[in-house]
Amino acid sequence: MKKVYLDNASTTAIRAEVVQEMTKVLTEDYGNPSSTHSLGRAAKSILELSRKSIAKNLNATAQEIIFTSCGTEANNWILRSAVKDLKVERIITSKIEHHAVLYTALVLEKEYGIQIDYVAVKPNGEIDITDLVELLSQQKKTLVSLMHVNNEIGTVLDLERIGRICQEHNALFHSDTVQSIGKTIIDLQKLPVDFIVASAHKFHGPKGSGFAFIRKNSGLQPLFFGGEQEKGLRAGTEALHQIAGMAKALEISQHNLEAERNYISELKNYLITKLEIEFPAFEINGSKDGFYTVLNFILPFSEDKTAMILFHLDMKGIAVSRGSACQSGSIKPSHVLAEMLSNDDLKKPSLRVSFSHYNTKEDIDILINALKTI
Ligand code: PLP
Repeated sequence: MKKVYLDNASTTAIRAEVVQEMTKVLTEDYGNPSSTHSLGRAAKSILELSRKSIAKNLNATAQEIIFTSCGTEANNWILRSAVKDLKVERIITSKIEHHAVLYTALVLEKEYGIQIDYVAVKPNGEIDITDLVELLSQQKKTLVSLMHVNNEIGTVLDLERIGRICQEHNALFHSDTVQSIGKTIIDLQKLPVDFIVASAHKFHGPKGSGFAFIRKNSGLQPLFFGGEQEKGLRAGTEALHQIAGMAKALEISQHNLEAERNYISELKNYLITKLEIEFPAFEINGSKDGFYTVLNFILPFSEDKTAMILFHLDMKGIAVSRGSACQSGSIKPSHVLAEMLSNDDLKKPSLRVSFSHYNTKEDIDILINALKTI
């Protein structure tokens, strides 16, 4: 049975060149980058070349890139240190952020008694900028944390515009860019952001590897203690093979960006056209001009099919995800869709299809045919 993988917002298949690079580092470059002997120095050189390569791809300086174990760690670190060390008294975020931001903000609210404000979300999943400006008019040391591309519905935030608004109101700006790094151009010399984060496994790199961009002189302090790695900002021996693999993955993604974006956009349009023909009453969740890698939609099926749809597709070798997570047999709606949809629409089956350049039109035909048998 052909496997059809259409769940690339969850994770992506690793590129062969990345595996090759990682295998080389694992077998040959096993020194500790902190050791002063030649093996250590060779490892250090790989580490710093990886950092330089990542920085170059984002038009940042190498010292602004700090390696972490994943996107979740980077988000936790930035939010926590902003409150603990930069004395942020309020976080403005939205209810459609990833839990790595939402749950961290809630914990910080409890621990430090800071204020959390949630900016309004429009019915199409976009952030209400008027509401953000209104919230920012309150004078308080503030961090705005809003994601670039939403992982469930693919809505895109205008980083440039939000960054300017934050600057005008003296607020720090953090953006979770886990879904967009490697898939769009990010120019950190131009973008007025203080912090962004990335995760290698979302752009065909290894799992368990990420980084944070920390703008120079931000004053951020470490989350972990016990070593001088990453200029003391992230203690712990660096996972060199993961980092080298991540740098390679980003380099290839950036190099192929234009071609892969065009190819994937065409696939997404093909899926929309097919849905229009086969299920004309389907509805897109989020904006019609959402990010090219994600399409989230409601199928015009009866509610009783909601629970079994993913299982049915999985039996046919198709991996997609649903806008609702099924827990212990009950259906708990996605926190993102719950914020945007009516109660009636929330009960209907929603699917998130997320693409990579490894997908083909045949994958989409297989998905559509499988949906027709439900
Ligand atoms: N932020 C967003 C938007 C994501 O989609 C994810 C991954 O699901 C994360 C953060 C967490 O990244 P990681 O898996 O590297 O912890």
